Amino acid sequence: LAKQNFRGTAVVFSAEHEAEISEQGRIQQALRAADFEQEMYLAFQPLVDTDTHGIFAYEALARWKSPSIGTVPPGIFIRAAERAGIIGKLTEVLMRKALEAAKTWPDHVRLSVNLSTRDVVSNKTVDALLDIIAESGVDPARLDIEVTETAVMRNFALAAENIRRFSERGIGVALDDFGTGHSSLSYVHKLPLTKIKIDRSFIVDIASNELSRSIVKTIVDLSRNIGCVCVVEGMETAEQVAVLRALGCRMMQGYYFARPQRLEDTLAYQAASDAILNASLRKTG
Ligand code: C2E
Ligand code: MG
Ligand code: MG
Ligand code: MG
Repeated sequence: LAKQNFRGTAVVFSAEHEAEISEQGRIQQALRAADFEQEMYLAFQPLVDTDTHGIFAYEALARWKSPSIGTVPPGIFIRAAERAGIIGKLTEVLMRKALEAAKTWPDHVRLSVNLSTRDVVSNKTVDALLDIIAESGVDPARLDIEVTETAVMRNFALAAENIRRFSERGIGVALDDFGTGHSSLSYVHKLPLTKIKIDRSFIVDIASNELSRSIVKTIVDLSRNIGCVCVVEGMETAEQVAVLRALGCRMMQGYYFARPQRLEDTLAYQAASDAILNASLRKTG
């Protein structure tokens, strides 16, 4: 294909395009052949309560190390699993692993699990997930599912119905990456939300950008008005933490506090969390 083109740019474009397609193909092929139980694991990132300086929850984040193609980032393999039509099975395996992990933590520490766009609109996947949760022995009231705005808006009626099924079991519902999707405030109160997660993109320039600050302030106030816990993600500096505290946000997640970590390390982190979080939060003034 590349040979037929005369112009350098076209050749480059076409070669890149081909490379991208074959990369996608390779990933999907490796995914289809993957033993999820063996190759998939979770990293856990704490959500910190900056009032109590305690760990409020851990978010489970999927990791894949394929023996054939190596480490692939979740942003890539989750999409590939959706395209390959095997995301439901993957989410089920990850949910099971996440619940097992939560059993090793104290009962007051919550667990957050991400669902993909496809999961939320699949009655079959939701049935399976509810069974897995019920059989796990973990109190459903300790669990939150995270769904993105984009997922919900794609098929609102079906997504809302499935989200309600989680909610009826006492499971919390977090709206993830808030502010980045096709936002329509009119649907927010039609969902049984318990948590709103403000996307990292609003935090990056929060210390210098007045507009970001006022958007975040609006979301923090909205969360309070509809009775949701507000969480900001992507906190990387003491300055950002101080600004967010001043805007009335209490729950935070980000590299400033901790990177996603292996299960073994969550236990050590919890043991040391008083000292770690006190030291981090002292710097924020
Ligand atoms: P997300 O659910 O919004 O997760 C937060 C992402 O931000 C994570 O990336 C996390 O490592 C990263 N992050 C946290 N704090 C910071 C920070 O201070 N700075 C920066 N730069 N990044 C930070 P990760 O683990 O690469 O996951 C990316 C996305 O992939 C997730 O975004 C989520 O949409 C998706 N994902 C991850 N695990 C799963 C899963 O099990 N199921 C599904 N459906 N999606 C998942
Ligand atoms: Mg998430
Ligand atoms: Mg998020
Ligand atoms: Mg995000």
